[in-house]
Amino acid sequence: MSLNGTLRMETLESCVLCQSEQIEEVDAEWHFCRCSACGYVFDSPRPTYDELVAFYSQPAKYDHWVRRERSRDALWKRRLKKLLPHRQPGNLLDVGAGIGQFLHHAQPFFSSVHGTEVSESAIQIAREKYGLVMDRGQVEEMNFPDAAFDNVTLFHVLEHVPNPVQLVRTCHRLLRANGILVVAVPNDVLAWTSKIKKIGKRMGIKQFGKFSPILGISRAGLSREIHLSHFTPPVLRQLLTQGGFCVIEESIDPYYVARGLMAAVHGAYYLFHKTLFHFLRANRYDTIWMIARKQKQSNTGANL
Ligand SMILES: [Zn+2]
Repeated sequence: MSLNGTLRMETLESCVLCQSEQIEEVDAEWHFCRCSACGYVFDSPRPTYDELVAFYSQPAKYDHWVRRERSRDALWKRRLKKLLPHRQPGNLLDVGAGIGQFLHHAQPFFSSVHGTEVSESAIQIAREKYGLVMDRGQVEEMNFPDAAFDNVTLFHVLEHVPNPVQLVRTCHRLLRANGILVVAVPNDVLAWTSKIKKIGKRMGIKQFGKFSPILGISRAGLSREIHLSHFTPPVLRQLLTQGGFCVIEESIDPYYVARGLMAAVHGAYYLFHKTLFHFLRANRYDTIWMIARKQKQSNTGANL
């Protein structure tokens, strides 16, 4: 596998979210499909799980995170500030914890913090930099007991995993009654920035070459990240509700990493969309933020 080489791919025959086989191709060249039944947009064909692990375990994959440590500190403080009013007293599990920077900041506010991560290189950085011992692998395959956590966070994880339904189900199992699940994902189907990329691509502007002319989203392997799912707010809400959660807060995620003047520009753009969402409930920002509370049981029985 290499960024410039060929990734091993798999094709989905049915929707991962609702099992419908009514799949339409939105952009065949860029491998984007949409489920006609539930509206879920996803990559198919898409890279296999082994390719994902190899991609995120490249030794230098997280170097730019470490280089931008101060800007990323500011990012994690913004997210923590949004999260803390809703937290359950007790412990915290961060799934897909990366280099552990969020856990490092969150530690004082929880009785204990835990992290899982598929990337060996990220786990090593977390250990060396923050003294955090994280578990390697997918949380679905780990032997955490049921109801082991009071809070679970999924910061930009759901869009990377092969089966988001299974991950939400696992979070439900791992949470105690009334436990809190915090989710942030890109909003790339509806974001204004995707519309700009789409227009740029159609106009033949070179900088927009890697984006789909139909969705304005980049294809797996062409960018720094591999996203398998492209959520919209209704699809994400449906995923959480069917997984046995009640969404108690919906907003936008202040995901930007910037310093100086650019931080001010990004901050202003974020605040504009936060206000837009507050008054019109319309999310055209780059990201979606949801906080959900565990209900007694999932709503869909065997599939979840
Ligand atoms: Zn579906």
